[in-house]
Amino acid sequence: MSSNFILIFIIISCLLLSSTPSIAYPVKINVLNNATDPAGRRRFDKELGKEYTVKILTEEIIPFIWKTFNQPTDASRKYVPNVGFIVKTLTDGAMAEIGEDNIYYNDIAIRDLPAGQEQAKFFFKSVVYHEATHIYQFNGKGTAPGGLTEGIADYVMVKSKVYNPEGYTKPGEGSKWDEGYGVTTRFLEYCDSLKPGFTPTLNNKMKDVFKEDYFQELIGKPLAQLWREYKAKYRKIILDGSFWEWLVRQEQNEGEREGEGEKPVSPIGFQRVIPVSEKLFRVPIPVGVEVQSDEPISNVKA
Ligand SMILES: [Zn+2]
Repeated sequence: MSSNFILIFIIISCLLLSSTPSIAYPVKINVLNNATDPAGRRRFDKELGKEYTVKILTEEIIPFIWKTFNQPTDASRKYVPNVGFIVKTLTDGAMAEIGEDNIYYNDIAIRDLPAGQEQAKFFFKSVVYHEATHIYQFNGKGTAPGGLTEGIADYVMVKSKVYNPEGYTKPGEGSKWDEGYGVTTRFLEYCDSLKPGFTPTLNNKMKDVFKEDYFQELIGKPLAQLWREYKAKYRKIILDGSFWEWLVRQEQNEGEREGEGEKPVSPIGFQRVIPVSEKLFRVPIPVGVEVQSDEPISNVKA
């Protein structure tokens, strides 16, 4: 073989490699409708179905999880080639959960999906994004805090944009970094803003073990300090007023929906007019965090 031929062969191979999307190992999804609730059983078959479930998992959700985790090769991915998807009654009241390599979806939750096929599919897919992430995420062989794995499962769902941002946790909420779900997701997004790609890197480092030191290693600051600074950043936004504008807007929208018609104009007025829900109240007054604003904390306290 001439050296020219070898060179051309190498160039063509490189071109092929760069233009072909990386091939992942095949995943087989086994869907069972074992619903005991007749309405849930019917609704799954009629509005969602086995074919749809397999399609979204293999064509959208699992590839998206690998992409979000920056796992371009099979060697970098968790190897789960068979996933069970079972619709059944969950006696613990969960909407959906996982066990081994199975996703269990409560038939009662299927029955109670939002009305309309498109709405039902959207909500269903959002939950499947979260549950499927549990199957393919690393958890440090069980050493990662449960709240962190819940936060990463939500993180992928939020990145997919298949979720309802209205009513979802806002940045700055929560009282501890591993509270789970939206609180942890928003904190991870903050960590991403300090170190691009932080969350996928953290996930990939947890193949064998979780260590709090990973935060220091990747961002250069200890975890406790990061959480403090995260909370302080959003409290500052709250104290200088922009967050209140956001809150007031939220409440106005809700008021209009409920036909209350109240139009609070200031944080103080806002608190007088509409009772502040526990959730909203939790946002502006974090406890035990250093204050970065000159304004007294009592300004935002009822
Ligand atoms: Zn979960």
